[in-house]
Amino acid sequence: MPDFQPVLFFFSPLLQFPWLFIFVTSLSISIGAALCALVVYRKQLIWQRETAERLEDSIQSRTLELQVALTELGEKNRALEEQNTLDALSGVRNRAYFDKKIQAEMKRSRREQRPLALVMLDIDHFKQINDQHGHLAGDAVIRGVAQRIQSLLKRSSDHVCRYGGEEFALILPNTDADGVVALAEQIRQSIADTPFDTEIGALSVRISAGCYAAIAESAMVSSNYIQAADEALYRAKHGGRNQVQLTPAPSAETAAGQPVTEPTEGTADESEL
Ligand code: GH3
Ligand code: MG
Ligand code: MG
Repeated sequence: MPDFQPVLFFFSPLLQFPWLFIFVTSLSISIGAALCALVVYRKQLIWQRETAERLEDSIQSRTLELQVALTELGEKNRALEEQNTLDALSGVRNRAYFDKKIQAEMKRSRREQRPLALVMLDIDHFKQINDQHGHLAGDAVIRGVAQRIQSLLKRSSDHVCRYGGEEFALILPNTDADGVVALAEQIRQSIADTPFDTEIGALSVRISAGCYAAIAESAMVSSNYIQAADEALYRAKHGGRNQVQLTPAPSAETAAGQPVTEPTEGTADESEL
């Protein structure tokens, strides 16, 4: 039989004073309930904090993934835009790029009051190359001429664009009449002196070039530049091809009293294909 004596001894005052018993019991229950509530509350806080941390981690990693995806998308877009400005056959800038670039450079020329030069350059008797050697050889010549011009451009602001067919347009910011004629002549000479490698062997090619250089005026549009350079190209073709011609800017014409239309000329047309 267990000995309840000490327990009874401890509880005897409580049993003697029921109000004390009730008080102690309800105090114990209240403390127990408060402790339970505290534990539950603390667990809830911990759970909330862990959930918030997990959420924050997940947001951070998603944000990072999104940033990486956006950067990649931006790079792909830039590459695609760059690709859209290139001519597939020759690898130089295309006509669409030319149309935008000339307008931008005209604005800059006007703003900075510096001359902008344009060269329209056309392969002489190109049709004969196609007819005699085939279109693939013709394509190789177009590629070769484009790369040759590109290699002779010295400034990063200079641009060669395939204007169409076997015709190229060179945009040369900060270049005056003397400068553009000298460069066009250098290109003409290099093309005439060094034949182009094609599948059917080395092919000799000649080009004609029309130049124009002026400080763009507010009334001018890009077609003014193109027409002026085209007019010089027309003179080069009709003057015997394999040569460079210049249409002087209106101010130069007035200053000189007469048009400056006799720049460098290459050798005779009979040397052509
Ligand atoms: P000119 O000296 O007066 O410039 O005579 P040309 O024979 O060069 O000029 P024309 O305009 O008569 O001929 C240009 C030829 O270029 C006609 C066209 O078939 C050819 N052509 C245009 N684009 C391409 C191309 O991408 N590849 C090839 N192979 N030929 C092309
Ligand atoms: Mg031609
Ligand atoms: Mg042509």
